[in-house]
Amino acid sequence: MDKQKDIMIPEPLLMPVIEVEHSFFWESLSKNELRIQKCSNCAILRYPPNPMCSQCQFFEHSWELMSGNGEIFSYVVTHQPTHSAFRDRTPLATVIVELDEGPRLVSNILNISPSEIKIGMKVRVVFQKMDDEITLPFFELID
Ligand SMILES: [Zn+2]
Repeated sequence: MDKQKDIMIPEPLLMPVIEVEHSFFWESLSKNELRIQKCSNCAILRYPPNPMCSQCQFFEHSWELMSGNGEIFSYVVTHQPTHSAFRDRTPLATVIVELDEGPRLVSNILNISPSEIKIGMKVRVVFQKMDDEITLPFFELID
């Protein structure tokens, strides 16, 4: 059985706007790679992408390839749609995933219902191509 067919991909309400300093992040995602900025001076991993390190104010950086593995650091489940665009989207779970390498991303978990989500669950990234420019990083529970 094709596992991918069981996964329901939430359609984003608004597509991200690609800023110049974020363009490599989005290009990497379109190649199914999750890359995070690493400061060339203090080596801190920083997300979201930023032109300058918040720790040491250094501008040079590299783009480190992440494993894509992590765990649910926190989450919130929205039950009441506060806007008509969310009418068919509740309950909606928004999660913060802490990657094994440390950075935290806001995303959705695709293969579990919001009522089953628990802090500490192990997850891995799933790349979903939305259009020619945007691929989004979602996550799925590791079996
Ligand atoms: Zn730094």
